[in-house]
Amino acid sequence: MPPDLSDRTTRCHDVLIVGGGLVGASLAIALDGLGLDVAQVEAAPAGALPPVFDQRNLSFADATVNALTALGVLQELRTPPGPIRRIHVSRAGDFGRVLMEASAYGRDAFGQVVVASDFGHALEQRLGRVDGLVRYRPARFLAAAPAGESLAVRIAGADGERTLHARLLVGADGAASGVREALDIHADTHDYGQSLLVARVRASRPPDGTAWERFTAHGPTALLPRGDRHYGVVHGVARAQAAAALEWDDSEFLARVQSAFGWRAGRFLGAGPRSAYPMVRTVARRITAPRAVLVGNAAQSMHPVGAQGFNLGLRDALTLAELVAEHRQDPGCAALLEAYARRRQEDRARTLEFSDGLARVTANDAPLLRPLRSLGLMAVDRLPALQARVAGGAMGFRGDVPALCRVPA
Ligand SMILES: Cc1cc2nc3c(=O)[nH]c(=O)nc-3n(C[C@H](O)[C@H](O)[C@H](O)COP(=O)(O)OP(=O)(O)OC[C@H]3O[C@@H](n4cnc5c(N)ncnc54)[C@H](O)[C@@H]3O)c2cc1C
Repeated sequence: MPPDLSDRTTRCHDVLIVGGGLVGASLAIALDGLGLDVAQVEAAPAGALPPVFDQRNLSFADATVNALTALGVLQELRTPPGPIRRIHVSRAGDFGRVLMEASAYGRDAFGQVVVASDFGHALEQRLGRVDGLVRYRPARFLAAAPAGESLAVRIAGADGERTLHARLLVGADGAASGVREALDIHADTHDYGQSLLVARVRASRPPDGTAWERFTAHGPTALLPRGDRHYGVVHGVARAQAAAALEWDDSEFLARVQSAFGWRAGRFLGAGPRSAYPMVRTVARRITAPRAVLVGNAAQSMHPVGAQGFNLGLRDALTLAELVAEHRQDPGCAALLEAYARRRQEDRARTLEFSDGLARVTANDAPLLRPLRSLGLMAVDRLPALQARVAGGAMGFRGDVPALCRVPA
């Protein structure tokens, strides 16, 4: 339903989501059918996908695939996703390697590779069927202040500023969250000094379901099996090199990726447009404030090397949707806030630790650490219990798992 922006009277929504990116859009869908007054504020205008739905390749964990299928989103993809049937991890100069097969866990795949722009279209299709969702767009969140049993939320739309009221305010506005700042929640940051180049590449051997992670002294190079016979490539470079790297012509880019990655996929033949992302971790010290919560990148954004960011953010959103369903009479109540913080604790801590550990260990080229790293990779390769833990995390089953993640797709 298009909101009436000419209406200057204040309106009280049960849930007001700031941000219509990957996690904010998924949350609006997960709240569908609860019979609540839900609204979303998004900076991108109607008819255009938010810029975050770009060419990045997203690896969806098994838990994510289950939930997005149950929510009717993945059925809307225009290109079939690429299944990840095995994961191969190695490091240039080290002797260990890890090979994990989904079939060893009784599964067809660990997860699926989806291009973000395609995912954006699928979410938009499904959002179009969400009953009664009020979408303020283009509109920017400006400020929030306590107002009795609600928060007064100031937004700026195309025709000026207005105030809304919300019983629960959800910050789903990404790593540089204005909601987080307005709630006075401090975030700790760490700059990895790396940038990741992302592109689509074609190789002489088409994808066979293997996701490759190769670590070099300059950062990770990953090859993800897309559903369109291309690979999604992620190539790490030192931050100082990022601008120059975007200027490389295709043949130079392909030669660099070939040298970092080797010949496991044969010869790289062609590349699509490239984009670069600076790698910075941002972790909010709290994920709740009176009548407000943070989800997704607003709560934590991490190095994409472990492909965990959206997968974790979706579990934030699904947990929150379960709690809102339980506390329909007042979705901003203290009991909900307390339960949300408690239920997200373990998954959040373990996933951040996993991603950060992977990013740091794989970036560290100290020669003394090499044998340890090799032994670490060999240990994961040889010890079934350790492998099962790594695989369980890769599939998205950590901590208090939301129910929809367990519904088989
Ligand atoms: C190269 C790369 C590869 C990745 N690969 C993976 C992967 O394989 N698997 C995985 O799980 N994750 C991956 N990620 C992480 C994933 O992209 C993020 O975790 C995800 O985008 C977070 O979603 P979000 O909705 O929380 O934030 P965002 O996607 O950043 O969305 C925030 C939204 O809020 C809106 N907004 C911001 N400020 C305001 C405001 N003031 N008012 C109104 N609207 C506002 C923005 O327009 C945007 O639409 C990758 C990230 C990168 C960079």
